[in-house]
Amino acid sequence: MSRTVFVADLHLSEESVALNRLFERCLDTWQGQIDALYVLGDFFDAWVGDDDDSEFIRRIKTRLAEFTRHTPVYFLHGNRDFLLGAQFAQETGIRLLPETVAVELYGRRYVLAHGDSLCTDDTAYQAFRLQSHNPLWQQAVLAKPLAERRLLAGQIRHISEQRKTAEGKSEMSDATEDGVQALMQHHAADPMPTLIHGHTHRPAVHEHICQTNGLPFARHVLQDWYGEAGGYVSVDADGVHSHPLAL
Ligand code: MN
Repeated sequence: MSRTVFVADLHLSEESVALNRLFERCLDTWQGQIDALYVLGDFFDAWVGDDDDSEFIRRIKTRLAEFTRHTPVYFLHGNRDFLLGAQFAQETGIRLLPETVAVELYGRRYVLAHGDSLCTDDTAYQAFRLQSHNPLWQQAVLAKPLAERRLLAGQIRHISEQRKTAEGKSEMSDATEDGVQALMQHHAADPMPTLIHGHTHRPAVHEHICQTNGLPFARHVLQDWYGEAGGYVSVDADGVHSHPLAL
């Protein structure tokens, strides 16, 4: 049966050796065997610009370019890899999506997002998000030398790790009902589409009622990849299925 695969929050880097291997094994399995692969953000733990020529980036580019010759890959930005751009897409054959997108698969509709925009209680992060999505801010960052950008990425990562340790998985960084409703009101329909996102590292299936039309919809939160394990969601004519992954 044909199916489409969704992943998010792999946070790949040259340090995530086990996860890189797990992802490459997935590519081996999926290449030519699925209809499409959607990466819903935070594919990479950090992205300093498409000109990054580290060995890790070169290796993943080569593997992705091979994969996309057989199977399309769609990518939308996360809060770590929002600088990933057209040059990387051109070199690998992946297709960049806007931050929210509605798709129809096997006769049902889905709304896709990274999920960071749904965490409306985290006002400090939402302020940074607004700034970091500004094209002028991005141009200014990308104009800095590569070495400086690598340093900056390390600092941002460090601050983010500290916040996580200090706050744990607090309510601050989870999707809110208001955030979910604000997104889905733009997709109100009968039947309602299903929302798929990542970011919160709290894999689950939630049921909501759309405040615009009173109709129910499901929200699938993708599993993050960590240590030697990850997961993905597949969509086929029967709907959405979760799959854990481990080395
Ligand atoms: Mn994220």
